[in-house]
Amino acid sequence: MSDALKTYGFETLQVHAGARPDPATGARQTPIYQSTAYVFQGADHAAALFDLKEIGFIYSRLTNPTVAVLQERIATLEGGIGAICCASGHAAQLMALFPLMSPGCNVVASNRLYGGTVTQFSQTIKRLGWSAKFVDFDDEQALRDAIDDNTRAIFCESISNPGGYVTDIPAIAKIADDVGLPLIVDNTAATPFLCRPIEQGATLVVHSTTKYLTGNGTVMGGAVVDSGKFDWSASGKFPSLSDPEPAYHGLKFHETFGPYAFTLHGIAIGLRDLGTTLNPQAAHYTLMGIETLSLRMQRHVENAMTIAKWLEGHPEVAEVTYTGLESSPYHARQKRVYPKGAGALFTVRLAGGYEACVDLVDRLELFSHVANLGDARSLIIHPASTTHRQLTADQQEAAGAGSDIVRLSIGIETADDLIADLKQALEGGST
Ligand SMILES: *Cc1c(COP(=O)(O)O)cnc(C)c1O
Repeated sequence: MSDALKTYGFETLQVHAGARPDPATGARQTPIYQSTAYVFQGADHAAALFDLKEIGFIYSRLTNPTVAVLQERIATLEGGIGAICCASGHAAQLMALFPLMSPGCNVVASNRLYGGTVTQFSQTIKRLGWSAKFVDFDDEQALRDAIDDNTRAIFCESISNPGGYVTDIPAIAKIADDVGLPLIVDNTAATPFLCRPIEQGATLVVHSTTKYLTGNGTVMGGAVVDSGKFDWSASGKFPSLSDPEPAYHGLKFHETFGPYAFTLHGIAIGLRDLGTTLNPQAAHYTLMGIETLSLRMQRHVENAMTIAKWLEGHPEVAEVTYTGLESSPYHARQKRVYPKGAGALFTVRLAGGYEACVDLVDRLELFSHVANLGDARSLIIHPASTTHRQLTADQQEAAGAGSDIVRLSIGIETADDLIADLKQALEGGST
């Protein structure tokens, strides 16, 4: 990032960071570089690129000019020094853990996570010999007790799916710091507009760019952002980054690349060998989405607040988890850690239980019943019968996704229209 960019505001950076007029054509919008490979300037240039002595484009599984603009844009907005974009949010989570973990190692994770992440961490990563321990991150002692000699990372969401619970990132970062472990924060539901975890002490930030960053429900994508602040050599626990890397002819990433070690390892080893690459077409859609991120997030937050307040006063509604409400036990924390707003994701517990949830979902007309969030459109889902279906009843409750709960992702439509839709659906349907 140039020094000038450091002084620009968020709204300027969301439009400009990483991009410049195309040097070949002058094209002002970032072109979709739909090319698999890039011609080397000569044999020496090719060798230098392969040795990581020079950074450039070789093959689009590793690097692509459109994807590179997105990487720089997201890294800049998050206040990181580099980012690796990948095919989905779940790919980004694997890419975040991959350089840190080896068989027998574990990640200590919050029990308030996106359902798919709970499944990925509790089941699928076991095939790699990794494991996860889930704890309540509001219980500092439980978190400290869960960390052992084989722990390699601490993982949480900033604003967490589905309930909109807000993690006290500075408090968790302090614990990570005390024990010398990297803190990974999934910032999907907050976006860097509402929360910049690196400023609050996180080491890595992961995103499902599928959600608010793209913002219109079009393409899948993910990103891992590195703060560049973690000392990968201090503890001897991260040999992929500190010791000679056999998968890259004995290169020591941390010694050679200093703060860029994690990002370059992610590209040179992670994308090269796991192939979780983002395609340039998707990167283009996401870049266009990010241009309006602040405008959309302000509107998402404003609408969510209006609708949460209205729902809270409705007789069919037993509970609204939106932390922007003064009635929320997390309201003070939200104001302190997320002063620009509590996001647009929350759950509603209906007095009528499971049946009432299913009826509501079926009767709504403007809200779409989909397994997605962070769209410009308002969305609703009944997690217990869908996204959180693979979880046990206890895991569902812990994740804030019990059977009498629906999750709302409030869009940017006219708030009165959304309220009218909720009203007709809660009160028996329009027909
Ligand atoms: C959707 C989501 C993911 C997974 O991202 P995909 O792009 O669907 O792979 C991870 N974390 C959170 C918080 C999400 O909302």
